[in-house]
Amino acid sequence: MAEDCIFCSIVSGEIPGRIVAETDHAVAFLDANPLAPGHTLVVPKQHYGRLSDVPGDEAAELFDAVHELSAAVEDALDADAVSIGINDGEAAGQEIPHTHVHLVPRFDGDGGGS
Ligand code: 5GP
Ligand code: ZN
Repeated sequence: MAEDCIFCSIVSGEIPGRIVAETDHAVAFLDANPLAPGHTLVVPKQHYGRLSDVPGDEAAELFDAVHELSAAVEDALDADAVSIGINDGEAAGQEIPHTHVHLVPRFDGDGGGS
């Protein structure tokens, strides 16, 4: 756990997060400023800054969680699609330096396909 990391604090339960799923090495919780209802973040439990810092087996587990949850989030929100993305590094828009995958439910006509 890294000090002053908001996502480490959510993973540890130190601050409340709306957790929707958990595996041995990954946690999914709702984004505090969602781009759409159901916007979910999937994070490794350990603090890793960038995706390339995550050991291969944990990265595989992270992707397994994304694989499962993308369908679950789409179903739960009755959405038409899901945008799945990582802002990997500051210049790419990463604001929280604990790597995470965004799952954003998308709806026909919401502009995601244009
Ligand atoms: P980034 O720009 O790093 O890819 O995305 C960071 C995401 O974390 C943003 O979508 C932002 O809304 C979300 N976020 C920032 N602070 C918090 C927080 O304290 N709790 C939760 N659940 N999400 C947060
Ligand atoms: Zn962290």
